[in-house]
Formats: sequence, structure tokens, C-alpha cells
Amino acid sequence: MRVLAMLDGTLVDPEQPWIRVDDLGLLRGDGVFETVLVVDGQPRELGPHLDRLARSAELMDLPVPDRSAWEHCVEAVLGAWRGDAEMALRLIYTRGVEGGDGTPTGYAFGFPIADKVLRNRATGVAAVTLDRGFHPDVVARAPWLLLGAKTLSYAVNMAALRHAEARGAQEAIFLAADGSVLEGPTSTVVVADGNTLRTPPPSLGILPGTTQAALFRAAEKAGWSTKTEPLRLADLLSADGLYLASSVRKVTRVHTLDGTPLPDVPALHTELSALYESEY
Ligand code: PLP
Repeated sequence: MRVLAMLDGTLVDPEQPWIRVDDLGLLRGDGVFETVLVVDGQPRELGPHLDRLARSAELMDLPVPDRSAWEHCVEAVLGAWRGDAEMALRLIYTRGVEGGDGTPTGYAFGFPIADKVLRNRATGVAAVTLDRGFHPDVVARAPWLLLGAKTLSYAVNMAALRHAEARGAQEAIFLAADGSVLEGPTSTVVVADGNTLRTPPPSLGILPGTTQAALFRAAEKAGWSTKTEPLRLADLLSADGLYLASSVRKVTRVHTLDGTPLPDVPALHTELSALYESEY
């Protein structure tokens, strides 16, 4: 089951081609996107996802996304979905066709959560750390690198996941050139220590995660303390729990890092998952 709506709200057949061969999203990865989790017809964190879409668009000088058009487009997909209780909903917004009048291309595409993602949620994952190659100070020095924008140029992120898989892991965690922990190719790093949750700051040039934010909100309500601060590899290895958070993977446990087994506290993962779910 897949559902596709164009940004004007028109539902179209997802099996047919709708993107021009000269679309800059296709030619250059010149566009932005979001992936939203929908559960029982309710999109989770839609507001923060649309905020981040707008922020990413701003960072790459795309026209300001029309928020009500996006909300309408999302509603069209939700209304037509007849699949599983959970759906992944991708919002795609590109610079439009090369040499065109600058009208962006936009669509929302609903599809089932991949089996691999569901399996990893249940069993946890092995991860490897990979060098991202940048010092964090590059964020301010080189804004053209678009660090912190969720652009369609994810070939590097996908290559990192293939490298992880070649090393027998399912996930990667990027480290900056100075050793700071950054993020996964499509996820936010969260560590639990006692009653404290920690995640690296977006100022390092990483995406502010909507799932991590929801988890931290819930944890604070339940009396946990939360910190957004730089982390080192040693912090990941010594934590009570290491997690990768994202919309589709929710809060997935990392059981092995660079081949080293991490502490297995199933009750902690259960508690964090319950906290995250308590926001909905
Ligand atoms: N970091 C990166 C690079 C991502 O691509 C994603 C999501 O795909 C995340 C973090 C997690 O963001 P969210 O929790 O909003 O899905």
C-alpha cells in the first residue's frame, strides 16, 4: 500500500511517473525532505517536522514552504491510507525544474515501515563509529556545506550505512574530526546514565531530532533530567544505554558499538520506549 499526493493536494497513482527528468531534486539532490511517522492515522510531531522543513529550505534559499498547502497535502495522504496502523510519510520539496520559473516541486508519499526497521526496533542494532571528516567549527565557517539542513543529498549518509553493513553492523554513528559524537546517518544519538538523558547539540552541524525532542519532553515530565551537550566516544561506551532515535525507528537500542557489547538493560529500553509513546 502506497499513497502519493502532490503539493496541491491531488492524489495521484504512485505507480506512475510524476517527476520530470530535469527536476533539480533528481539532478542535484537540490531539495529538502522530512520523514514523518503516522500511527493510527495521526502524524507524530507534524508541527516540528514542518518547522524543520522550513528551516532546511531557508538554509538552502528555497522558497518558503506553504505550510497550509503541506498540511492539506498530508491530510490527503492520511485520508487515502488503507494500509498498516503505522505508515512512513515522506515530504519532498525540491527547487523544481532546471531553467524553469523557480516553482518548487512538492509531494507527500506514504508507504509501509520497512521490515528491517521493525526488526531493529525489537532486537536493537550493532553500530560502528565513522569519521564525518569535519571539525565542528566548519558549521559557521562554511554554511554552503548545509550542515544541519535535511537536504535530499543523502548519498553520503547512505554510503555510511553501507560501510557499517560491510563491517557487520546495521547502523553508523558519525564522529567529528575532533572526536565529538555527531549523529547517525538518519538518526539522533541519545545516551542514558542513571536518570539523565543526553544528546549532542545541533550547533555541531547535526539535525535537531523531533523524536529525541519528544522523548526528552516526556522524560522531563517523568522527572528525568535531560542535557544537550557534547559527547565523546567514551561517553557512549560507558553509558547505561545507547540509543538511536528517529521518526520511523522510534528509540532503537544499540547493543554493540565498534564490536564491543554494551550493557543490556532491557528494562531501561522498555522505560524509554514507554516514555516516548506517552507523548501520544
Ligand atoms: N539526524 C539525521 C541525519 C536524520 O536524517 C534524522 C531523520 O531521518 C534524524 C537525525 C532524526 O530525526 P527525527 O527524529 O526527526 O526523525
